[in-house]
Amino acid sequence: MQRDTLVSHVNEMLDISRFRDYAPNGLQVEGRESVQRIVTGVTASLAMIEAAIALQADAILVHHGYFWRNEDSRITGMKKRRIAQLLSHDINLLAYHLPLDAHPTLGNNARLGALLGVPVQTWHGEQGIIALGTLPSPMRVEALGARIQERLGREPLLLPGDGREIQMLAWCSGGAQGYFEEAIMLGADAYLTGEVSEPAFHIARESGCAFFAAGHHATEKYGIQALGEHLAGHFGLEHRFIDISNPV
Ligand SMILES: [Zn+2]
Repeated sequence: MQRDTLVSHVNEMLDISRFRDYAPNGLQVEGRESVQRIVTGVTASLAMIEAAIALQADAILVHHGYFWRNEDSRITGMKKRRIAQLLSHDINLLAYHLPLDAHPTLGNNARLGALLGVPVQTWHGEQGIIALGTLPSPMRVEALGARIQERLGREPLLLPGDGREIQMLAWCSGGAQGYFEEAIMLGADAYLTGEVSEPAFHIARESGCAFFAAGHHATEKYGIQALGEHLAGHFGLEHRFIDISNPV
């Protein structure tokens, strides 16, 4: 299929113009015009690009691309090596950041909720990416931690709050520890994100709301994979998800 058709389909489906993001969403590095084989992954690292080259992919779709707001805009060093590999192999790079966190069925937070058995009930926050849902039955915080570990294949860091049973869960994938207080204001008994910062310990203790850091990579594997599967089904493309394992 034509690359431009693929890009406009995803741009529209993920409603990219709705977000004020930290990096451009959509086609970031242009490659060949025709696309048949796509690979998806969390981050456009050199290892990801090399895997895509080995699979002779026409396009890479990721959650974390390039050209972040505060990064050095020069194409030197590590960034030069990554972009040189893409350009010399004529591979397209598409990146979707906040729009992929937010999508109601394919997004990171929708997939994460489904995986944990807590469907999204409402969306919150200025970008609409904080998910809130009710557990089918209340759980002890340790039991919820065990479920997260089992479903994500990785032990989360747990700050247990006041030990109350968890009924209302708020979550936002990735580096969304800054939304912890907003989750408390929404009435959450626990908040789950990928990463943790020092204040979270005190906020959990003083508010009583539990906090889980379940891994940035571990919480953001599912959206891009679901997007790839959707595109494979919709357009008859070949798709492979490449998991470059990352303990962070
Ligand atoms: Zn992220």
